[in-house]
Amino acid sequence: MPDPEATRPDSSGRPAGDAPLAGFVIAIDGPSGSGKSSVSKQVARTLGYGFLDTGAMYRALTWWCLERQVDLTDESAVLAAAQAFPLTIGTDPDDPAVTVDGTDVGSAIRESRISTQVSLVAVIVPVREVLRDLQRRLITEASAAAGGVVAEGRDITTVVAPDASVRVLLTASEQARLARRSRELHGADHADAVAATRSQIVDRDRVDGTVSQFTVAADGVTTVDTSDLNFDESVAAVLQVVEAARA
Ligand code: C5P
Repeated sequence: MPDPEATRPDSSGRPAGDAPLAGFVIAIDGPSGSGKSSVSKQVARTLGYGFLDTGAMYRALTWWCLERQVDLTDESAVLAAAQAFPLTIGTDPDDPAVTVDGTDVGSAIRESRISTQVSLVAVIVPVREVLRDLQRRLITEASAAAGGVVAEGRDITTVVAPDASVRVLLTASEQARLARRSRELHGADHADAVAATRSQIVDRDRVDGTVSQFTVAADGVTTVDTSDLNFDESVAAVLQVVEAARA
């Protein structure tokens, strides 16, 4: 266990021992179907910033473990895989390429066999610590290269980048999230399609919620509720929070 004194946050919210983040960092968290990936990507494009999809990192690690026949319930084996994880992830919002040991896994990590198993990896706390360090490094590098970065996930506002320049929790009602994801996965949002989507969203969020808090905004985090907003309105609402923080 890490010494809690050694990692106690300072006044910026940054745990002691962390190098400060460079540049303008926008941290966005939210549950499945809140639109955070597509909205975050568009915010990054609009501002000319880098983009980091931390969910893709958990998905890629899950893919890598399955590829190497690592039992996802064997915490030390998954941790060993995380510590020697040959990941490269792009931070260009127009080309966020993900490769593992030279293999392009951009499509494979979106398959349902990954979506249904990724939480097994994500709930292993020491694995989260390894990915957190990597994420802070990537955020700093992307931000230095582009003048700013949008990083999205489940614990960016609270754990990975509590010292970000802007922190947003993107939420939407369960009904809106189910309908959106159902249209993405099944091309429809009638009752059967929504029922088929439910486990992918509600169950995954329930498990993920045991290690990260992404349904209620932490202190200093601005909530943007997109239940009644379309995509462009959601992007505009986040940009407004960014502008307010700059002002
Ligand atoms: O955002 P996305 O659905 O691609 O995330 C996939 C999974 O990665 C989540 O269900 C969660 O288990 C994990 N995750 C996480 N912390 C993050 C981002 C994603 O635990 N910051």
